[in-house]
Amino acid sequence: MSQFINGKLIEGSTGETVDVIDPSNGTMVDTITLAGSDDVKLAVQAAREAFPAWSRATPAERSAVLTKFAALMEERAEQFAQLESRQAGKPIRLTREFDVPGTIDNIAFFAGAARNLEGKATGEYSADHTSSIRREAIGVIGSISPWNYPLQMAAWKILPAIAAGNTIVLKPAEITPLTSLLFAEVATEAGLPAGVVNVITGRGSTVGAELLRHPDVDMLSFTGSTGVGRTVLDAAATTAKRVHLKLGGKAPFVVFDDADLQAAIHGAVAGSLINTGQDCTAATRAIVHRSLYEKFITDVADLYAQVKLGPTDDPTTDLGPLVSETHRDKVAEMVERARGYARVIGGGIPSSEDGDLAAGSYYRPTLVADATPDSEIFRDEVFGPVLAVTPFDTDDEAIELANDTPYGLAASAWTKDVYRALRATREIRSGCVWVNDHIPIISEMPHGGFKESGFGKDMSTYSFDEYTVVKHVMFDLTGVAAKPWHRTIFSREA
Ligand code: NAD
Repeated sequence: MSQFINGKLIEGSTGETVDVIDPSNGTMVDTITLAGSDDVKLAVQAAREAFPAWSRATPAERSAVLTKFAALMEERAEQFAQLESRQAGKPIRLTREFDVPGTIDNIAFFAGAARNLEGKATGEYSADHTSSIRREAIGVIGSISPWNYPLQMAAWKILPAIAAGNTIVLKPAEITPLTSLLFAEVATEAGLPAGVVNVITGRGSTVGAELLRHPDVDMLSFTGSTGVGRTVLDAAATTAKRVHLKLGGKAPFVVFDDADLQAAIHGAVAGSLINTGQDCTAATRAIVHRSLYEKFITDVADLYAQVKLGPTDDPTTDLGPLVSETHRDKVAEMVERARGYARVIGGGIPSSEDGDLAAGSYYRPTLVADATPDSEIFRDEVFGPVLAVTPFDTDDEAIELANDTPYGLAASAWTKDVYRALRATREIRSGCVWVNDHIPIISEMPHGGFKESGFGKDMSTYSFDEYTVVKHVMFDLTGVAAKPWHRTIFSREA
């Protein structure tokens, strides 16, 4: 079953099928029937019809459903971990220890947050009136998510939207739809009313595009590449819809000369290889003080060489494949081009001599040293296990290099000097700056970009700023027919 509409799993109306492939070995995980125009219409209608009751449910009622949902997810954690691992080619250790527990924690967080919507105090801001603020749900959210963290991205889109009383139609990436469908199914088992969450699995260029322009969709919420994000903005502009965009990243990883070098080296390896580098916040541009530069390169390359590529169901596997052969080939081509202008250490596609790895879309960890700041590998998203490195001499230069990118999603600064750390956190233009770490996320804190990484926040109560609208309600306190301000119209009363 390929679509989750109005509380039920159904087949997609196009009849066109797509195989979901495990990229670690090329085997089929499942076959889905793609959604078409009819499914978009049905899903939006279901969400529209579910909106009045769900938006009027009390915060406690919404919270109770989410609390039960978190408990059910906990019971089915292993099923989610296995499915996410297979459809996206993630090592099972990653899905068991990161994707699934992170998602359960998110659900638990929004179960509490649903009861904590805030606004300005009701009061007499004019002597003759009492003003109050209503924070209301927006309506039907049309949401589109990417393939790199299918389960977490579905959770980040769905949870704040429904906790605040909206209903949603989510279109996950067509190559990794399975855990989004299961997520909606389990939420419904937990008591979520039919139509509150709908998942349609179709192509971006067809059903995605139709969802964006559907007249009954009140807000667009998109996570994906900056290129497609521009298409979403166009749709929002022509249909005058609210929009929330989480786009690409090219995170700088700045190592000052007083840094704990071993901590920075470990941080760079883990921060660049998480999810095989298919992470919008992954460390991708190491900007390293010249005094530490060669040692940083040698030690990161040594650790890269020790990382174990392997079957994704093996708990000892460190690095899984890229999501598809097409994507692996794109990564390989970018690295090949870099050989022309920089020092490439490691990398490469495993061959038949590497046994079973050759059947998957694996790519070895790759360091690209001496990458100039204007080079493709240093500027563009690779979205693979590739870290570009460049040296700097002064703190000013380091900050300038960190900011010399159209993106602004995440960054890290490595230093023991509190003043340097404060300067970096103040001056680096990105939605998150870590100090002496790179990657951790938590449900209580916002996640979102600056510049071409988009705008609006996921997770945390800040996400309610995206998914609610503020209404001013004003009561007259005087009870008189001729109010003082009427003098502007009724001059005879002046
Ligand atoms: P993508 O932009 O190619 O696709 C994202 C989604 O958009 C998919 O569901 C796709 O089907 C859909 N889509 C494609 N064309 C469309 C169109 N014309 N109209 C409507 N929908 C369309 O991105 P991807 O390759 O799936 O994911 C990787 C990208 O996502 C990277 O750029 C990464 O940085 C970004 N990302 C960002 C965050 C964040 O938090 N900022 C998180 C994860 C991924």
